[in-house]
Amino acid sequence: MIDKPTIARIMDATNIVDVVSEFVSLKKRGVNYIGLCPFHNDSHPSFSVSPARGICHCFTCGKGGNAINFLMELEQMTYPDALRWLANKYHIEIKERELTSEEKEKESERESMFIVNEWASKYFEDILQNDVDGRAIGMQYFRSRGFRDDIIRKFRLGFDPNSRTALYDEAIKKGYNAKYLVATGLCFKVDKDEASNKSGEDKYLDRFSGRAIFPWFSVSGKVVAFGGRVLDSRTKGVNQKYVNSPDSDIYHKERELYGLYQAKKAIAKENCVYMVEGYTDVISMHQCGIENVVANSGTALSVHQIRLLHRFTNNIVLLYDGDAAGVHAALRGTDMLLEEEMNVKVLLLPDGNDPDSFARSHTASDFRKYIEENQTDFIQFKTHLMLKGVTDPVKRSEAINSIVRSISLVQDQILRDTYLHECAMRMSMNEATLINTMNKFIRDGRDRMNPQQQQAGQQTSPEPPRANAPQQLTVATPLQQASKVERMLVKMVIRNGNDVIYRNVEDADGNLINLNVAQYLAYNLSIDGLHLENPTFERILNEAVAHSADEGFQAEQFFIHHEDIEISKIATSLTAERYQLSPTALAADAPMNEQDRLAREATRIDNVRNQLEHLLNDFRMDYIEHHLKELQQKIKTATNGPADELMKLMAEYKETQELRNKLARMLGNNIVV
Ligand code: ZN
Repeated sequence: MIDKPTIARIMDATNIVDVVSEFVSLKKRGVNYIGLCPFHNDSHPSFSVSPARGICHCFTCGKGGNAINFLMELEQMTYPDALRWLANKYHIEIKERELTSEEKEKESERESMFIVNEWASKYFEDILQNDVDGRAIGMQYFRSRGFRDDIIRKFRLGFDPNSRTALYDEAIKKGYNAKYLVATGLCFKVDKDEASNKSGEDKYLDRFSGRAIFPWFSVSGKVVAFGGRVLDSRTKGVNQKYVNSPDSDIYHKERELYGLYQAKKAIAKENCVYMVEGYTDVISMHQCGIENVVANSGTALSVHQIRLLHRFTNNIVLLYDGDAAGVHAALRGTDMLLEEEMNVKVLLLPDGNDPDSFARSHTASDFRKYIEENQTDFIQFKTHLMLKGVTDPVKRSEAINSIVRSISLVQDQILRDTYLHECAMRMSMNEATLINTMNKFIRDGRDRMNPQQQQAGQQTSPEPPRANAPQQLTVATPLQQASKVERMLVKMVIRNGNDVIYRNVEDADGNLINLNVAQYLAYNLSIDGLHLENPTFERILNEAVAHSADEGFQAEQFFIHHEDIEISKIATSLTAERYQLSPTALAADAPMNEQDRLAREATRIDNVRNQLEHLLNDFRMDYIEHHLKELQQKIKTATNGPADELMKLMAEYKETQELRNKLARMLGNNIVV
C-alpha cells in the first residue's frame, strides 16, 4: 500500500502534458495541447490536454481524465501501478504503508499461489513444446485445430502428461510446497483412509493429467487458473470435455473472463467486445486477426464479469452458433447486460458454424464485415425470436411481457421509447398498453435491486399481467430516478461547489453567513431529513462542505485529483462535458471591461442558484412520490384495522399529497391524480 503523503507528492509532481506526451505527440493550441486520440482511430486531432486543469479529454470518444485515469485506461494499469509508474518517472521514492501481519500473511499466501501457477504454466508449455508425448498428443491436438505457433505461445497453451503425478513430482522436486499445489487446484489430495487410496498414506494427484492446457490470466496478466481439455482418444463416453481449476483465493470463476488479458487493448481501441463461448473460439478469432474477443466458457454472465467488461467498453456483441442451443444461450443473462447499461447486439452464425470454425474459414475483414452486416439489436432479436409463429394467446402474452421487461431495462429513455414503438408496431399492439406494462416493470425494477431475483425471473416464464392484481408497492425507493437527479446535484457540487449563491443570510444563531452550492445543498437536505442515496455522492458532498472554508479550495480540482480513484473518475466524467462547449469557454476568456465581467458573473450565479433550487425540488419530489406510495400501501393494510389509525394515515396522505401538488406547481409539472 502506498501511503497518502507519497500519493500527494506524486500528484503534485505530475504534469499531464509530460505524461500524455510519452504516448501521443502533442501540439500547443492556445493554452492547451492537442493530438491524435490514443483511444480511438483518430484522423483529426480530437485529444485535448489542459495543463491548467491537469486533465486530458477526447472530444470524439469521451475518454480521458487526470494522469492516473489516462495511464489506467491506456495501459490498462491498476491504480497502484499507475502511481508507481508516475513515481518512477518523477524520481519519487515510494513509501509503502506497513502491512499488518495478517495482511502480510494473506499477501504472501496469494503471492505463493501465483508463483506456483506461473511455474506450472511454464511446465505445461515446456512439456507441449519439448516432451515426446507432449508433441505427439498435445501439439498434435492443437495442430488439428489449426493453431499457429505464435498463437500457441501467445495464449501459453500447454499439455500435462498422462501420469497421474507428473506435475506433483516435478513440483516437489523443485521445492514447491504441496499446500499451494492444492490451494491453486493444480493437485488434489486423497486422504490415506479413503477407500480408493491403498497406499496407506496421503497422496496427491494432478487434476489435469493427460489434458491440453489453457491457462487463464487475470486482467494484469497473472496466471490465476487453468482449463484442461480431455483429448480425442479419451472423449468417448466422457460428458465433460473440460475441467477447470476450482475457485481459490486468486481465482473466482464468476469474476474472470477467458482471453480478457490478451483482448483488453483491442477492446478499448475498437470500443466493442465480442463474447463467445469457448477457449478455441477466442483463440481462432485472434489467429484470424480479431482480438477484441472474450469467452465466459458457456455459463451465464455474472454481474462482476459485466462490470469488468464495462471498464473497457459499453458495446458488446454476443456471437453464437446458429443452432437452437446457441439461440437459447444468446437470451441468457442479457437482461442483466441491459440493466448494466451495455449496448447489446446479437449475431447468430450461419447454421453449422461456431466462431471457431467461422474464423478458420474467413479472413478478419470478411468476419468483421459479416458481423457488421448481420448483427441484430438485442431487443429486435428477442422480439423476432419470441413471437415467431406464436399464436396461442397466453404464450403470446407471456412473450410480450418478457420483451417489454427487457425494454424496461434499457437506461436510455429515447432508445427505450423507440424500442417500445417498434415493438408495438411489430405486434400490432396498442402502444399505450405497452407503455403501462413497461412503467410497471420500471417501478418494480426500482423495488427490486437484487440481480439474482432478476436472473431467476428470466428462466421461468414471466406471469402475464392479471387484471385487478394487487400491485406490489413495497420499498419503492426511486433509486434509478433518484440517482439521475443525484448525479446532476453532485455534478453541480463538483463544478460549482465554490460558487457562493446566497450572501449574508442569517444562520440559526443570527450570524450573517455566505452559502456556496455545496453548503446550501447540504443544509437543505439536512433540514428536510434527506440524504443522497449513493454513498459516494454523499461523500463528495460532505467533503465539499468540509473543505468549503479552506483557503483557495477549488472543488473541481480537488475532486478531479482526489486520491480515491472512483471519486476522481466521477469528477472527470462529470466535468468533461463542459469542455465540449469550447466556443463559450473561449468567449468567456475574451477580454472585457470590469462592469461586463461583473454582470456576466451575476447572471451566471443566478443560473447556478436557479438550477440548484430546481434540482433540489426534483429530489424532494422523488422522495415525496416514494413516501406517498408507502402510505397507499399502509392504508390498504390498515383498512381492516382500528379506525383512528386509518384516519391518521389518511390525514398524512392528504397532507403529503398537498405538499406534492405545491411542489409540482413550483416545478411546473402537471400532476394527474
Ligand atoms: Zn478518442
